[in-house]
Amino acid sequence: MAMDNAIALENRFAAQNYHPLPVVLARGEGAFLWDVEGRRYIDMMSAYSAVSHGHAHPRILAALDAQARRLAVPSRAFYSDRLGPFLEKLCTLAGLDQALPMNTGAEAVETAIKAARRWGYRVKRIAPDRAEIIVAAGNFHGRTTTIIGFSSEAEYRDGFGPFAPGFRAVPFGDLAAIEAAITPQTAAVLIEPIQGEGGIIVPPEGWLAGVRALCDEHNVLLIVDEVQTGLGRTGAWFAFQHEKIRPDGLILGKALGGGVLPVSALVGTRALMGVFTPGSHGSTFGGNPLAAAVGLVALRIIEDEGLVERARDLGAHMMKRLQAIKSPAIRAVRGKGLLAGIDIEPRYADARTVCERLLAAGVLSKETHETVVRLAPPLVIAREDLDWALDRIAETIHAIERTPHPEAA
Ligand code: PMP
Repeated sequence: MAMDNAIALENRFAAQNYHPLPVVLARGEGAFLWDVEGRRYIDMMSAYSAVSHGHAHPRILAALDAQARRLAVPSRAFYSDRLGPFLEKLCTLAGLDQALPMNTGAEAVETAIKAARRWGYRVKRIAPDRAEIIVAAGNFHGRTTTIIGFSSEAEYRDGFGPFAPGFRAVPFGDLAAIEAAITPQTAAVLIEPIQGEGGIIVPPEGWLAGVRALCDEHNVLLIVDEVQTGLGRTGAWFAFQHEKIRPDGLILGKALGGGVLPVSALVGTRALMGVFTPGSHGSTFGGNPLAAAVGLVALRIIEDEGLVERARDLGAHMMKRLQAIKSPAIRAVRGKGLLAGIDIEPRYADARTVCERLLAAGVLSKETHETVVRLAPPLVIAREDLDWALDRIAETIHAIERTPHPEAA
């Protein structure tokens, strides 16, 4: 299908909840994507970090195909021979006791909210319907009505109220603000170790460990949303490991599905996960054998191919190269591992314009908010391909710096 036709058709029949860049993708392999006209791009976004294994990883495809032919979706009304091994591996890697599999990241966050509240009532003995969860301003945890209710983004909320009570937002990275917000009704603190959609915001070192200590002191759960930062992305299996702590609950998604299926989970301590009883939660597709088989091989590949170490080493290289781009068009560069954000000085361009220019140069990324270009390539990316993309990024930034916004002062 020609590019113009594909765009027109999608615009006509798809609700306009996204504003895609003008490229029509048809194929992917490793860190590369091809459009309908056969033009090749480097994928520096990996589907918002979901494609850490690269596109069409042969072992993922083999597991997907074999399991689809064997048994895909019998539902959890029955046991399967695939779920146990997957969750055993996941719990072992995370250093936690039990997991509850879901499909999308938002569903796993909802699962964590339910778990935290029930723990609050049944273990901490908070008065009925009074449980509170402390969240961070600038958070992103998904798009359900409960979750957007505690978002600080007007665009995510506008026209979708009324929203559920029971959440209290404090500034991200501010330990004193969390301490001040804790009350006897506080069941949990729910945070991203690095805010992804919020603009790749890295908190001060020691903050997460400080939150852990506060939670211990006040009998409050610490639940980390690592849908974006987990599974090697930041140069550790989980970002919480950088601070040598263990959370009570860990939310995973995106790359857990190997880039081919929606697979998510809440992983937690026995004390937290023990609040679930038959009938208290569920999902038709959650934990199906196809998802479990793909999830297990996705975890094994990260281990076998040393993707955590790759993210750490290539990430350090990427950060060094980004910091070396000396340009007034860059306000800041932030990140950890293979997750970075370039904050563009608005006098020169908005991030969308930079992404459009990168597209023309053969590099795919997507802005988050108006000013940040995110970089999150597949963890399997070859160093020379990463360098090629970084060369194009440096050129693009320097070109933009020579042609500031027409309306800029
Ligand atoms: N949590 C975080 C930290 C995320 O980055 C995202 C997605 N960007 C989600 C939750 C929601 O995941 P999903 O889109 O699969 O519902």
